[in-house]
Amino acid sequence: MAELNLMDKIVSLCKRRGFIYPASEIYGGFANAFDYGPLGSQLKKNIKDEWWRRFVIEREDIVGLDSAIIQNPRTWEASGHLASFTDPMVECKKCHNRFRIDKLLEEISGMSIEDAYHQFLHEWWNDLDKRIKASSQEATEEVKKAEVQVKKVREKMQKKGVGPREFNKEQKEYQAKHLLDYSFTGFDNLQAEVKEFLRISEEGVPAYLGHLVNTFKLLCKECGSREFTHPRDFNLMFKTYVGPIEDSSAVAYLRPETAQGIFLNFKNILQSTRIKIPLGIAQIGKAFRNEITPGNFIFRTREFEQGEIEFFVEPNLAESKKWYEEWLKIWKAFFVDLGIKEKNLSIREHAKEELSHYSSGTSDVEYDFPFGVSELAGVAQRTDFDLKNHQEKSGQDLRYFDEATGERYLPFVVEPTMGIDRAMLAFLVDAYDESDGKDGREEGEITLRIDPRLAPVKVAVFPLMKKDKLPEIAKKIMTEMHRIGLNAQYDESGSVGRRYRRQDEIGTPWCVTVDFDSIKDNTVTVRDRDTMKQERVKIEELVSHFQARLFK
Ligand code: ATP
Repeated sequence: MAELNLMDKIVSLCKRRGFIYPASEIYGGFANAFDYGPLGSQLKKNIKDEWWRRFVIEREDIVGLDSAIIQNPRTWEASGHLASFTDPMVECKKCHNRFRIDKLLEEISGMSIEDAYHQFLHEWWNDLDKRIKASSQEATEEVKKAEVQVKKVREKMQKKGVGPREFNKEQKEYQAKHLLDYSFTGFDNLQAEVKEFLRISEEGVPAYLGHLVNTFKLLCKECGSREFTHPRDFNLMFKTYVGPIEDSSAVAYLRPETAQGIFLNFKNILQSTRIKIPLGIAQIGKAFRNEITPGNFIFRTREFEQGEIEFFVEPNLAESKKWYEEWLKIWKAFFVDLGIKEKNLSIREHAKEELSHYSSGTSDVEYDFPFGVSELAGVAQRTDFDLKNHQEKSGQDLRYFDEATGERYLPFVVEPTMGIDRAMLAFLVDAYDESDGKDGREEGEITLRIDPRLAPVKVAVFPLMKKDKLPEIAKKIMTEMHRIGLNAQYDESGSVGRRYRRQDEIGTPWCVTVDFDSIKDNTVTVRDRDTMKQERVKIEELVSHFQARLFK
């Protein structure tokens, strides 16, 4: 049997032990939808609780919110989602499958679409330059203009640190399979080619995408056809109808982000609390996007959870930048503090072309997932884009009143956001450990080295044997654990070694074994998941023992 890769192993563990199941499985599943099982729902809740504790309970400058998923549809007009929340799509003319053209090209070329664009211009110009020189045609105005333009693009490339790169053999083969005819052809004269080059270099990535579909023969991954429609923008919002009549006046949308509910309640929160700027409003909740290319398990799904904060600051870019940098640090620290290895995290600032319609600066916190480095969370500077548009569309005064200066203004906003499901995947990946057989475990045994604060089960309690009151003592310990809010699990079947392995696999940090000495001296063995060390602890000290380790 082929060796499973890390993602396959995690997916399999999640299913086997009840973290995550494919949704609607008895009906053959429902593509890219998942249900969180007994352990998964608890792990997810623990992540959300840690988030809420740090960002709402412990911060005096942030308040919580839980807003509706379906809001007045005018919300999405004001937020820009109706007009701009789109992905460029192509449709295979034969099988009618749709693909996100930018993602498809990223997959084929192994680089971001921006890098591919610059690489393309670079290669094309070198080629064109040679042909212009060799050509008997006169250097027309257009060729001269192209020369100037190419210099501009090159400077831009250098500034962004994007350089042309060498393709290795594997990449070349992969490209050759998907893209026929990588050289630029199809123009009967140099001028027409220069004109097209100019257009693409001026209009940027969208023009490049259209050009690729027209010029190169992409291969449909589903049916092998090479005929695609021109790229079209596809709105990612899920549409629904409110009420019994399905006409245009009843159209509403499932929220594609939790953020807008916060802006809609900005005025309410100012009026009902005494909070002052800089202030944050935080919410955790479901968001829905009709993603074209969902995949990689719970990394990209159509229904997912976000933890978002809108952090309102004085309306100037310096203040916004200060908080943007601050939140990037806090965001990264959240993951590191809860156990993610720092070497697996990186920060990536978005290039200008990549910025969302509302953003004046965005960075992603990325994680080195088994399928590649990808976005885990982000921090964006949204300026006053949202409040300004909601104020305009609603006709309501959404300005903040600064009592100290007597000034009224629309604050700028910095938005730290993260996907709860993506965070969960990163925590699972980072914690997954398979023994090499040299650490006292058998080779291949799995330990989920998840932070105890996140672990779905905190303590497992075992009676050594099912006799002589050992089960009763164990159950009493369980009750005590539950009383202080710790999820404890009772297990009396199999050898203690097997019971340890079952708990290691689900990340339980401590196992308590009640044995015959316990009857005599009221002590139990506490075994630590990571060090595998065992110590005797008095039963009446178990609560403080675990509390000291959980609430460091
Ligand atoms: P991507 O570039 O991966 O599509 P995005 O930049 O559109 O993500 P945001 O709009 O910034 O994402 O959403 C905030 C967070 O929500 C992301 O950092 C990510 O963790 C999470 N997220 C976004 N889309 C999805 C999805 N389809 N499935 C799971 N999580 C998601």
